[in-house]
Amino acid sequence: MTPQDPVASLVEALGSGAVEVVDLTQPLNERTPVIQLPEQFAQTPGVKRHEISRYDERGPAWAWYWLEIGEHTGTHFDAPIHWISGRDGKDVSQVPGRHLIAPAVVIDRSEESAENPDYLLTADDVRAFEDEHGPLPEGGWLLLRTGWDARAQDAETFLGAQDGNPHSPGFDVECARWIAEESPLVGVGVETVGIDAGSAAEFDPPFPAHFYLMGAGKYGVTQLANLGALPHTGALFFVAPLKLTGGTGSPVRALALVPQG
Ligand code: MN
Repeated sequence: MTPQDPVASLVEALGSGAVEVVDLTQPLNERTPVIQLPEQFAQTPGVKRHEISRYDERGPAWAWYWLEIGEHTGTHFDAPIHWISGRDGKDVSQVPGRHLIAPAVVIDRSEESAENPDYLLTADDVRAFEDEHGPLPEGGWLLLRTGWDARAQDAETFLGAQDGNPHSPGFDVECARWIAEESPLVGVGVETVGIDAGSAAEFDPPFPAHFYLMGAGKYGVTQLANLGALPHTGALFFVAPLKLTGGTGSPVRALALVPQG
Protein backbone atom coordinates (compact mmCIF):
# COMPACT_ATOMS: atom_id res chain seq x y z
CA MET A 1 0.00 0.00 0.00
CA THR A 2 1.22 3.49 -0.81
CA PRO A 3 -0.13 6.89 0.17
CA GLN A 4 -1.23 7.15 -3.47
CA ASP A 5 -3.72 4.32 -3.01
CA PRO A 6 -6.61 5.73 -0.94
CA VAL A 7 -8.97 2.85 -1.70
CA ALA A 8 -6.44 0.36 -0.33
CA SER A 9 -6.12 2.56 2.77
CA LEU A 10 -9.88 2.43 3.23
CA VAL A 11 -9.98 -1.34 2.77
CA GLU A 12 -7.30 -1.69 5.43
CA ALA A 13 -9.19 0.64 7.80
CA LEU A 14 -12.37 -1.39 7.33
CA GLY A 15 -10.45 -4.59 8.01
CA SER A 16 -8.80 -3.26 11.17
CA GLY A 17 -11.99 -1.69 12.52
CA ALA A 18 -10.53 1.83 12.28
CA VAL A 19 -13.55 2.59 10.08
CA GLU A 20 -16.96 1.14 10.93
CA VAL A 21 -19.97 0.66 8.64
CA VAL A 22 -23.21 1.93 10.21
CA ASP A 23 -26.47 0.81 8.61
CA LEU A 24 -28.80 3.82 8.41
CA THR A 25 -31.71 1.87 6.89
CA GLN A 26 -35.01 0.93 8.52
CA PRO A 27 -36.29 -2.62 7.97
CA LEU A 28 -38.79 -2.64 5.09
CA ASN A 29 -41.92 -4.73 5.57
CA GLU A 30 -45.72 -4.71 5.38
CA ARG A 31 -45.91 -2.68 8.61
CA THR A 32 -43.55 0.08 7.44
CA PRO A 33 -45.50 3.34 7.81
CA VAL A 34 -46.05 5.49 4.71
CA ILE A 35 -46.94 9.16 4.54
CA GLN A 36 -50.63 10.03 4.96
CA LEU A 37 -51.63 13.05 2.86
CA PRO A 38 -54.69 15.23 3.46
CA GLU A 39 -57.68 13.17 2.41
CA GLN A 40 -58.42 15.02 -0.87
CA PHE A 41 -55.14 13.66 -2.33
CA ALA A 42 -54.21 10.20 -3.66
CA GLN A 43 -52.31 8.04 -1.18
CA THR A 44 -49.24 5.89 -1.77
CA PRO A 45 -49.32 2.18 -0.97
CA GLY A 46 -46.71 0.69 1.29
CA VAL A 47 -45.07 -2.64 0.47
CA LYS A 48 -46.89 -5.86 -0.37
CA ARG A 49 -45.17 -9.13 -1.27
CA HIS A 50 -46.65 -11.64 -3.71
CA GLU A 51 -45.17 -15.13 -3.64
CA ILE A 52 -44.03 -16.50 -7.03
CA SER A 53 -42.73 -19.82 -5.71
CA ARG A 54 -41.37 -21.23 -2.48
CA TYR A 55 -39.37 -24.45 -3.10
CA ASP A 56 -42.57 -26.01 -4.41
CA GLU A 57 -44.12 -27.15 -7.68
CA ARG A 58 -44.09 -23.55 -8.92
CA GLY A 59 -40.30 -23.51 -8.56
CA PRO A 60 -38.87 -26.54 -6.81
CA ALA A 61 -35.45 -25.15 -5.85
CA TRP A 62 -36.14 -21.46 -5.43
CA ALA A 63 -38.14 -18.90 -3.49
CA TRP A 64 -39.01 -15.47 -4.82
CA TYR A 65 -41.60 -12.74 -4.61
CA TRP A 66 -42.76 -9.87 -6.70
CA LEU A 67 -43.29 -6.57 -4.97
CA GLU A 68 -46.04 -4.03 -4.95
CA ILE A 69 -44.50 -0.87 -3.55
CA GLY A 70 -44.66 2.91 -3.74
CA GLU A 71 -41.49 4.69 -4.83
CA HIS A 72 -41.62 6.66 -1.57
CA THR A 73 -41.81 3.77 0.89
CA GLY A 74 -39.60 3.16 3.90
CA THR A 75 -36.08 4.54 3.92
CA HIS A 76 -36.18 6.21 0.53
CA PHE A 77 -34.78 8.82 -1.84
CA ASP A 78 -36.57 11.89 -3.25
CA ALA A 79 -35.30 12.91 -6.71
CA PRO A 80 -35.77 16.47 -8.03
CA ILE A 81 -38.66 15.47 -10.33
CA HIS A 82 -40.65 14.36 -7.28
CA TRP A 83 -41.80 17.97 -6.85
CA ILE A 84 -43.37 20.40 -9.29
CA SER A 85 -40.59 22.90 -8.57
CA GLY A 86 -38.07 20.32 -9.85
CA ARG A 87 -40.12 18.84 -12.67
CA ASP A 88 -37.45 19.70 -15.28
CA GLY A 89 -34.68 18.30 -13.09
CA LYS A 90 -33.13 14.88 -12.65
CA ASP A 91 -35.07 11.67 -12.18
CA VAL A 92 -33.70 9.12 -9.73
CA SER A 93 -31.76 7.24 -12.43
CA GLN A 94 -29.88 10.42 -13.37
CA VAL A 95 -28.45 11.24 -9.94
CA PRO A 96 -24.66 11.16 -10.26
CA GLY A 97 -22.79 8.60 -8.16
CA ARG A 98 -20.68 11.26 -6.46
CA HIS A 99 -23.86 12.69 -4.90
CA LEU A 100 -24.68 9.23 -3.52
CA ILE A 101 -21.33 8.86 -1.72
CA ALA A 102 -20.61 12.11 0.06
CA PRO A 103 -19.65 13.61 3.44
CA ALA A 104 -22.40 14.11 5.99
CA VAL A 105 -22.90 16.32 9.01
CA VAL A 106 -25.37 15.38 11.72
CA ILE A 107 -27.39 17.96 13.66
CA ASP A 108 -28.98 16.43 16.76
CA ARG A 109 -32.33 17.83 17.82
CA SER A 110 -33.65 14.69 19.52
CA GLU A 111 -34.17 16.41 22.89
CA GLU A 112 -36.01 19.36 21.35
CA SER A 113 -38.14 17.02 19.22
CA ALA A 114 -39.04 14.84 22.20
CA GLU A 115 -40.37 17.96 23.94
CA ASN A 116 -42.03 19.40 20.83
CA PRO A 117 -43.06 17.03 18.00
CA ASP A 118 -43.51 20.09 15.74
CA TYR A 119 -39.91 21.22 16.33
CA LEU A 120 -38.41 23.08 13.34
CA LEU A 121 -34.71 23.57 12.63
CA THR A 122 -33.83 27.12 11.54
CA ALA A 123 -31.14 28.50 9.23
CA ASP A 124 -29.62 30.22 12.28
CA ASP A 125 -29.33 26.79 13.93
CA VAL A 126 -27.39 25.51 10.91
CA ARG A 127 -25.12 28.56 10.88
CA ALA A 128 -24.51 28.11 14.63
CA PHE A 129 -23.58 24.47 13.89
CA GLU A 130 -21.06 25.75 11.34
CA ASP A 131 -19.59 28.16 13.91
CA GLU A 132 -19.01 25.22 16.24
CA HIS A 133 -18.07 22.43 13.81
CA GLY A 134 -16.78 24.19 10.70
CA PRO A 135 -18.32 24.86 7.31
CA LEU A 136 -20.85 22.49 5.78
CA PRO A 137 -19.18 20.07 3.35
CA GLU A 138 -19.24 20.98 -0.34
CA GLY A 139 -21.47 18.45 -2.12
CA GLY A 140 -22.39 16.88 1.22
CA TRP A 141 -25.50 15.96 3.16
CA LEU A 142 -27.10 17.34 6.31
CA LEU A 143 -28.68 14.57 8.40
CA LEU A 144 -31.22 15.76 10.99
CA ARG A 145 -31.37 13.55 14.07
CA THR A 146 -34.66 13.81 15.96
CA GLY A 147 -35.03 10.43 17.69
CA TRP A 148 -37.93 9.61 15.35
CA ASP A 149 -36.10 6.47 14.21
CA ALA A 150 -37.20 4.72 17.40
CA ARG A 151 -40.83 5.11 16.27
CA ALA A 152 -40.34 3.98 12.68
CA GLN A 153 -42.14 0.62 12.93
CA ASP A 154 -45.21 2.11 14.63
CA ALA A 155 -47.37 4.26 12.35
CA GLU A 156 -49.28 5.95 15.16
CA THR A 157 -46.32 7.44 16.99
CA PHE A 158 -44.17 7.80 13.86
CA LEU A 159 -46.72 9.92 11.97
CA GLY A 160 -47.94 11.54 15.18
CA ALA A 161 -51.47 11.98 13.82
CA GLN A 162 -53.36 10.99 16.95
CA ASP A 163 -55.29 14.30 16.80
CA GLY A 164 -56.02 13.90 13.05
CA ASN A 165 -53.12 16.07 11.90
CA PRO A 166 -49.56 14.75 11.49
CA HIS A 167 -46.88 15.98 13.88
CA SER A 168 -43.18 15.34 13.32
CA PRO A 169 -40.09 17.59 13.38
CA GLY A 170 -38.40 19.13 10.35
CA PHE A 171 -37.09 22.34 8.80
CA ASP A 172 -38.70 25.76 8.86
CA VAL A 173 -39.37 27.59 5.58
CA GLU A 174 -36.27 29.79 5.66
CA CYS A 175 -34.02 26.89 6.65
CA ALA A 176 -35.30 24.84 3.71
CA ARG A 177 -34.77 27.77 1.33
CA TRP A 178 -31.29 28.48 2.71
CA ILE A 179 -30.16 24.84 2.42
CA ALA A 180 -31.51 24.67 -1.14
CA GLU A 181 -30.30 28.01 -2.44
CA GLU A 182 -27.32 29.08 -0.34
CA SER A 183 -25.68 26.05 1.24
CA PRO A 184 -23.08 23.83 -0.48
CA LEU A 185 -25.11 20.69 0.40
CA VAL A 186 -26.68 18.35 -2.19
CA GLY A 187 -29.36 17.01 0.11
CA VAL A 188 -30.87 16.41 3.52
CA GLY A 189 -31.63 13.19 5.31
CA VAL A 190 -34.18 12.77 8.09
CA GLU A 191 -35.54 10.07 10.41
CA THR A 192 -39.17 11.08 9.80
CA VAL A 193 -41.59 9.85 7.10
CA GLY A 194 -40.77 12.78 4.76
CA ILE A 195 -38.18 15.55 4.53
CA ASP A 196 -40.86 18.06 5.54
CA ALA A 197 -42.22 18.45 9.04
CA GLY A 198 -45.56 16.77 9.76
CA SER A 199 -47.33 20.13 9.86
CA ALA A 200 -45.72 21.43 6.63
CA ALA A 201 -48.88 21.18 4.50
CA GLU A 202 -49.86 24.41 6.29
CA PHE A 203 -46.58 26.25 5.58
CA ASP A 204 -46.04 28.92 2.88
CA PRO A 205 -45.02 27.44 0.53
CA PRO A 206 -46.54 24.10 1.54
CA PHE A 207 -43.90 21.38 2.07
CA PRO A 208 -41.01 23.88 1.77
CA ALA A 209 -38.21 21.31 2.08
CA HIS A 210 -39.58 19.48 -0.96
CA PHE A 211 -40.36 22.73 -2.78
CA TYR A 212 -36.97 24.39 -2.33
CA LEU A 213 -34.64 21.38 -2.41
CA MET A 214 -36.20 19.66 -5.42
CA GLY A 215 -36.48 23.06 -7.11
CA ALA A 216 -32.73 23.54 -6.66
CA GLY A 217 -31.97 20.08 -8.08
CA LYS A 218 -31.19 18.71 -4.61
CA TYR A 219 -32.32 15.52 -2.88
CA GLY A 220 -33.95 14.10 0.21
CA VAL A 221 -33.61 10.82 2.08
CA THR A 222 -36.19 9.83 4.69
CA GLN A 223 -36.77 7.30 7.45
CA LEU A 224 -33.08 6.98 8.34
CA ALA A 225 -32.00 4.91 11.34
CA ASN A 226 -29.02 4.97 13.69
CA LEU A 227 -28.03 8.60 13.15
CA GLY A 228 -27.15 8.53 16.85
CA ALA A 229 -24.15 6.35 15.96
CA LEU A 230 -22.71 9.07 13.71
CA PRO A 231 -20.39 11.93 14.70
CA HIS A 232 -21.40 15.56 14.07
CA THR A 233 -18.84 15.65 11.26
CA GLY A 234 -16.54 13.16 9.58
CA ALA A 235 -18.95 10.44 8.41
CA LEU A 236 -19.14 9.38 4.77
CA PHE A 237 -22.77 8.85 3.69
CA PHE A 238 -23.74 6.21 1.10
CA VAL A 239 -27.25 6.06 -0.32
CA ALA A 240 -28.25 3.66 -3.11
CA PRO A 241 -31.59 4.26 -4.86
CA LEU A 242 -32.71 1.98 -7.67
CA LYS A 243 -31.68 3.27 -11.09
CA LEU A 244 -35.34 3.49 -12.02
CA THR A 245 -35.73 5.25 -15.36
CA GLY A 246 -38.01 8.25 -14.91
CA GLY A 247 -38.41 7.44 -11.22
CA THR A 248 -39.36 10.19 -8.77
CA GLY A 249 -37.75 8.32 -5.91
CA SER A 250 -36.83 4.88 -4.68
CA PRO A 251 -36.45 2.78 -1.57
CA VAL A 252 -32.76 2.72 -0.65
CA ARG A 253 -30.12 1.07 1.44
CA ALA A 254 -28.31 3.88 3.27
CA LEU A 255 -24.99 3.35 5.04
CA ALA A 256 -22.27 5.46 6.60
CA LEU A 257 -18.57 4.97 7.07
CA VAL A 258 -17.51 6.26 10.47
CA PRO A 259 -13.95 6.60 11.75
CA GLN A 260 -13.51 4.98 15.19
CA GLY A 261 -11.58 6.22 18.18
MN1 MN B 1 -40.49 10.88 -0.67
